[in-house]
Amino acid sequence: MLGSVRAGSLYEVRCETSMCGFKTTLGIGGGRLFDQASGYCWKCGKTASVTWKREQEKSPLHLKFWDALCGRMREVFTCPTCKGPFVMIEQIEDMKHCPKCGKTSLKTKLTVMYD
Ligand SMILES: [Zn+2]
Ligand SMILES: [Zn+2]
Repeated sequence: MLGSVRAGSLYEVRCETSMCGFKTTLGIGGGRLFDQASGYCWKCGKTASVTWKREQEKSPLHLKFWDALCGRMREVFTCPTCKGPFVMIEQIEDMKHCPKCGKTSLKTKLTVMYD
């Protein structure tokens, strides 16, 4: 067997600032047969995600850079809707700021695990 079976998780993200009302769902990680990159496309005003088969190259990978803010490599993918770039959110903790009001008032809740 190759590696371990990874499962993905689907989160519900909600902003708790009154009058903001931002709400979205975000899938982190891929399943058994596919891998996934999700993030927030600011241009589209919604979450964006791309998937690819595990044995294939990550696609469509836009660029990769080192982020001094978090000290990690960040990967940028192409939004399937507007073809603009979005930064992959690797863990739900990375979703700190509400894209609508800019405050750190997001609450996340795990809704589904899939594989
Ligand atoms: Zn977009
Ligand atoms: Zn908000």
